Amino acid sequence: LLLAYDPARRLARLQVQMERAVVNARMIYALLDQAPLQRDKPGAKDLVVTEARIELRGVSFSYASGDTILRGVDLVAAGGKTTALVGPSGAGKSTIISLIPRFYDPSEGSILIDGQDISEVTKASLRRHLAYVSQQPYLFEGTIRDNIRYGRPEATDTEVEEAARLAHAHDFILAQPFGYETPVGENGVTLSGGQRQRLSIARALVRKAPILLLDEATSALDNESEAAVQKALESAMSGRTVLVIAHRLSTVVNADKIIVMHEGRVVEEGTHETLAQHQDGLYARLNNLQAPDTGA
Ligand code: ADP
Ligand code: MG
Repeated sequence: LLLAYDPARRLARLQVQMERAVVNARMIYALLDQAPLQRDKPGAKDLVVTEARIELRGVSFSYASGDTILRGVDLVAAGGKTTALVGPSGAGKSTIISLIPRFYDPSEGSILIDGQDISEVTKASLRRHLAYVSQQPYLFEGTIRDNIRYGRPEATDTEVEEAARLAHAHDFILAQPFGYETPVGENGVTLSGGQRQRLSIARALVRKAPILLLDEATSALDNESEAAVQKALESAMSGRTVLVIAHRLSTVVNADKIIVMHEGRVVEEGTHETLAQHQDGLYARLNNLQAPDTGA
């Protein structure tokens, strides 16, 4: 018990939490092409997306802190389909998502999009084809319109509003004191959790990217917000290649493929029907608890 008060341990824990917060923020900024890009390999070509098929081949990974987090992960997210990652907290699901925009590179193995190794293409072209919705919707100081347009700075007003409609956000935006020009963020109006999520989905939609990386929120929303967010996610997912860390049972059940992770490995894959039949499997056990993912 005394160990819990050990300042060095507390500091170490705090540092891990901060690093994760930084990764989340970096993920948003970098996907929006705002972060300074690391240099590309000499002669790197632009990524050419046709089907938007993602493949991980023998991917292993450790953070700088040392422990091996991913161990020989092979997986395919088929073009235009939804692939759900499920598994207990700490299994490595978020880490997999962070390798796609190249916030980190695998220590072994490779990641391909439509057959092109993503370490060989320009980062700008890679990220142009990706949209990301994080678990924690992030709004910065500015108007609602700014916050959506941030997904693609050259988007027109019409495109911003189109994205907001698809994200089921248009009506609540119009109900704000200055509509799309209403300031949000620290000094702006306060929006509910569900409204913030729909704005972050609109921001992803305005990118019109063929690949959507989605870390579903675990936080409980009231029923009305839940239904609106669900509809927003359905529009965001339609017609795209989606790699989703699924917390909602409905997402898991409707996914074209479910990949079950445990301790950095893929332990099962299939559809809800096939996996649920395998009674001794991890999926069936998680599913019996009515919680495909027990944590962040
Ligand atoms: P999941 O999303 O499945 O819950 P994560 O990919 O977030 O799992 O984490 C997998 C493991 O990697 C965990 O043990 C976690 O503590 C560790 N981890 C995650 N992010 C970092 C980081 N930025 N630095 C060091 N370790 C990390
Ligand atoms: Mg996670």
